[in-house]
Amino acid sequence: MAMLEVKDLYVSYGMIAALKGISFEVNEGEVIALIGANGAGKTTLIRAILGESKAEGRIILNGQDLYKNFKNMKSQIGMVPQFLTLRKNDTVRNTLMDTAGIKLGSCTKQEREQRVDNILEHVGIKEHQNKLIGQLSGGQQKKAAVANQLVGFQKVFICDEPDSGLDAASRTQQMEILKEISQENKIVMVITHEPDDAVQVIDGVKKSLFTKVIVLARNSVDRAGHLAFYGSVENALAFFGVSRLQDIMIEI
Ligand code: ATP
Repeated sequence: MAMLEVKDLYVSYGMIAALKGISFEVNEGEVIALIGANGAGKTTLIRAILGESKAEGRIILNGQDLYKNFKNMKSQIGMVPQFLTLRKNDTVRNTLMDTAGIKLGSCTKQEREQRVDNILEHVGIKEHQNKLIGQLSGGQQKKAAVANQLVGFQKVFICDEPDSGLDAASRTQQMEILKEISQENKIVMVITHEPDDAVQVIDGVKKSLFTKVIVLARNSVDRAGHLAFYGSVENALAFFGVSRLQDIMIEI
């Protein structure tokens, strides 16, 4: 069973439909690129998944209907900040405890301490918990950033344009952190205008960090955003007959 199922989503602003008939399923561990031209409905789709805009249709997360159980489930889907870098002059532990204070407000201090301990151990950075972030190596800082995101109980992580305003090295690091988060049996969805920058090199071969691509496009007849494509990066490139994901926007 897919972890996240979006079924026939419809969103309108007043009388004007912004999104129509959006359906797709996502398994845990996936990193999804959400692409489309300006005004295609990317932000609208994200806001519907976050429950921030009124949508018709259904969103099922782990078999449960999000809109029907919104109060209990809303903490499972959340935005990731655009900049995942952490404050250099805080210790790793304090950073995670601050996040626990925000995300796990209803837990006792002891429960928050326990959660932070578990995450530090799980991510493999517990031995560095009392060091300042600025004293960590690049790889350890990345682990701290992943740990910091995992403190809450989010299952779906959404990031809006992690590529805007970041230099190339920071963009790569940001995407690597998101990939590592997905590998904790989570789903990561990324709105991006630079989808081809998110690559990893495996055995000397460049491979996209995205496991799937959602392409939204505005229909020239009803002006609403529709799902133009959903599938793997390779299939997206073949479907649109392009060699780079960003060229899909030109094809559309
Ligand atoms: P961009 O890449 O420019 O951020 P997008 O793909 O995120 O665009 P949306 O912001 O989701 O697009 O907008 C989709 C459509 O809905 C657009 O036609 C937009 O004008 C319209 N729209 C968005 N927000 C509102 C609103 N609050 N009221 C009315 N129309 C809106």
